[in-house]
Amino acid sequence: MNKPDKIYIAGHRGLVGAAILRHLQQQGYDNLLTATHQELDLSHQLQVQNFFQQHQPDYVFLAAAKVGGIHANNRYPAEFIYQNLAIETHVIESAYRAGVRKLLFLGSSCIYPKFAPQPMREQHLLTGELEPTNQWYAVAKIAGIKMCQAYYQQYGFKAISLMPTNLYGIGDNFHLENAHVIPALLRKFHQAKMTNAKHVEVWGTGQPRREFLYVDDLADACVFLMQSYQQAEIVNIGVGNDISIAELAQLVKKVVDYQGDIIFDPSKPDGTPRKLLDISLLSKLGWSAKTDLEQGLTHTYHWFLANQDKCRH
Ligand code: GDP
Repeated sequence: MNKPDKIYIAGHRGLVGAAILRHLQQQGYDNLLTATHQELDLSHQLQVQNFFQQHQPDYVFLAAAKVGGIHANNRYPAEFIYQNLAIETHVIESAYRAGVRKLLFLGSSCIYPKFAPQPMREQHLLTGELEPTNQWYAVAKIAGIKMCQAYYQQYGFKAISLMPTNLYGIGDNFHLENAHVIPALLRKFHQAKMTNAKHVEVWGTGQPRREFLYVDDLADACVFLMQSYQQAEIVNIGVGNDISIAELAQLVKKVVDYQGDIIFDPSKPDGTPRKLLDISLLSKLGWSAKTDLEQGLTHTYHWFLANQDKCRH
């Protein structure tokens, strides 16, 4: 990938796409192609085909997806499965037809089996039952990976797939119910601090463990692997360690500087007990994350404070 190449970032307004866009701009790439949802509906096949034929990008980062936390997945199963399948099939097929040189697709660590051995290796994909709360999203993302591999095998189309662990960072969705745990907790603790509330409710038992990757680190990994990785096999992208939700809540409390108590609500679902990626392949390829969790939470909280009016609630 060279500086004058035309690079399309699908989903540039989302958490991941915006980070990839920022990263490419910082590195001096200036032939960047984006389209808002109003300009291009990725779930509309003909629009996507025409867009690719018209613009003929050289490289594609496919970061567009319908995403959400545990509650949103449970509540909107049809939207999660349909929109993700539609986006993937239209973008991958149109990119191949338009002669794109390489496409990078983003899966997720939640597509591995619910009880996969920990840490989860790339080989554990499709070896067991999925976590029911996010199976709709997972099935769609697995289809996207298989599509990349099928196009690689049949047409030699260089479509690579990365499996990021749980992500967080600036530009996240801070909706109290539909967001992922980090933005939801940052907002809850911040509100509690502002209103002098005695306690904050954290969903579940606090015992599940999660691994968290700062989204700007993911963007760095995406650009690195777009330049250097040439295989159809998926690659896990993580930091190599996890923490419990209870420990995370303590860390968020510290970053926000909230003085009250933390209460757990076990009537809310815990989801998968543990989700830690094996990152030996990634390490062998020569990449590692740079931002530690407390640092990343602090950047994210500062961004939230500065952008409360425009961030997605
Ligand atoms: P998951 O990794 O797919 O399970 O997605 P989430 O980020 O939504 O949830 C991670 C864990 O954090 C689950 O065990 C949730 O029950 C727990 N959690 C605790 N408080 C919250 C909250 O306010 N919002 C969300 N989304 N999760 C929470």
